Amino acid sequence: MSERRRRYDEDDVRVRPNPRGSRPRTKERPAHADAVPALVVVVDRGRSTCLVEPGTDRERTVTAMRARELGRTGVVVGDRVGLVGDTSGRTDTLARIVRIDERRTVLRRTADDTDPVERVVVANADQLVVVTAVADPEPRARMVDRCLVAAYVAGMRPLLCLTKGDLRPAEEVLRTWAPLGLDAVVTSRGPDGELLGLDDVRERLRGRTSVLVGHSGVGKSTLVNALVPDAGRATGHVNAVTGRGRHTSTSMAALALPDGQGWVVDTPGVRSFGLAHVDPEAVLSAFPDLLPGEEGCPRGCTHDEPDCALDAWVAEGRAGAAGPARLESFRRLLAARRGEERDDERERHRGREREQ
Ligand code: ZN
Repeated sequence: MSERRRRYDEDDVRVRPNPRGSRPRTKERPAHADAVPALVVVVDRGRSTCLVEPGTDRERTVTAMRARELGRTGVVVGDRVGLVGDTSGRTDTLARIVRIDERRTVLRRTADDTDPVERVVVANADQLVVVTAVADPEPRARMVDRCLVAAYVAGMRPLLCLTKGDLRPAEEVLRTWAPLGLDAVVTSRGPDGELLGLDDVRERLRGRTSVLVGHSGVGKSTLVNALVPDAGRATGHVNAVTGRGRHTSTSMAALALPDGQGWVVDTPGVRSFGLAHVDPEAVLSAFPDLLPGEEGCPRGCTHDEPDCALDAWVAEGRAGAAGPARLESFRRLLAARRGEERDDERERHRGREREQ
């Protein structure tokens, strides 16, 4: 263990078993009322890069480690935390995260073949932007569906961002998701190669924290770089802080949009969502028009079985004219949730081949 690491350990607050039991623990474990609020923008192997007083002239980047008293709770990008110790942000200083604020939203993915642990991907994001090209590569409907399920159960607003709109009419692609009433934006290349449609994208991002997901080749990085002109510099800075020599595009990072217009979280490592943790009720709750129909369902209905009452509910017109198409979309999302990891795995390999 390095000298520096040991020094930090000595500074660490330790929670020891209290032999007298009833004595207040305040002496050993301060309440950290003076902890400095911060936003976690990068997490890299146990070290978090945090922004303190973002958007002010006192804004600074502070590297921090999770205090032991937090137990096994992990820190993720988007977490609002409390820091103690050296929060100056000076080189070679390290603060401690002693508090993780309650999360407003939690974007998760289930364990899959490559990662045996269910993980929180991002905390406190408002919107999941599913970036997909209208062509080259062809849109992957199932991947989009899986992202939508992840957004719905996380309590996040889904936004479909179709890129390369100059290659094919976006309406053709949007038809698949029309019953879901998704908000969508389209970007394309202008005659001089310039990216068009950015203003629409900016409008949807304003005032929100948006997570961008998308497979390789869809133009997600191009989009991020256009939205956050100093994205490269920002992540480069982050790498300088954490002192890791890794390629910047492999780290998930929260990037501030110019002029305090919101945040985007780029997710280079996330290519699919394992959704085994998602139960049908959570998906159904994203369909308020169908929701009352489940009253007639048998106990534990999967909503995808012959006895499901939703079919009758829709057939009676009680979910409105769009009911049948909505039910179909709901069932498609349920199907996307189940046992489709293998396809995703194949897509991952294909993506890798393309990158090489
Ligand atoms: Zn049912």
